[in-house]
Amino acid sequence: MTSDTDDLLFALPAPPRVAVVGDTRRYPVARIFCVGRNYADHAAEMGVEVDRQAPFYFLKQAGAIVPSGATIPYPPGTRDFHHEMELVVALGASAHAVPVDRAMDAVFGYACGLDMTRRDLQLDARAKGRPWDLGKDFEDSAVIAPIVPKADFGVIGDRRIDLTVGAVRRQSAKLSDLVWSVAELVSHLSRYYHLGPGDLIFTGTPAGVGPVVPGDRIVGAIDGLPPVELVIGAPQSA
Ligand code: MN
Repeated sequence: MTSDTDDLLFALPAPPRVAVVGDTRRYPVARIFCVGRNYADHAAEMGVEVDRQAPFYFLKQAGAIVPSGATIPYPPGTRDFHHEMELVVALGASAHAVPVDRAMDAVFGYACGLDMTRRDLQLDARAKGRPWDLGKDFEDSAVIAPIVPKADFGVIGDRRIDLTVGAVRRQSAKLSDLVWSVAELVSHLSRYYHLGPGDLIFTGTPAGVGPVVPGDRIVGAIDGLPPVELVIGAPQSA
């Protein structure tokens, strides 16, 4: 038996894994797709409109994953670090150009997630027509709670999604407010990517995004899922 590291100069970290409720096995993460502007009230607070023609996306590297309960350093390069509470869809099967009515077959389960954002860098890039990577794709920016299998979760429906920072509720909406449904997102993405097991979709955030500072404790919740929790630590010294 050969090891994959035999002829490599150095070893890379294994893919991040996410706990699964009711299963001793963990879910390995391949890719992280994120949906932009998928709640009308959030698009409005960002001074833009929802595109009703098609959803749009950005990606985060899998290495950005942080488990719920972590303390992360306040990230470098920003003075406006924001929370975005989101429903995360975890895929468990391949999907290539699937119609909406078969898209849910590829869904393994759901989790609470935080799309942590360097808002000043994102808005600067947006204003210049540049990609959002500096604002969105960086270490510790994709926080995720344990995944609940689809069958145990049931119908998405109009469950509540909300987020508090300390004792203050900042975000509160219903999953039925999603502009593009989970099935529509999986179907649409599957026309552009060969989706497969390990792919996560962060489905977008409702209104109420805002800044956090060192010492803040964030708790995001969706009915029927374990909450996602995050503590903001001091900036890492250089
Ligand atoms: Mn987001």
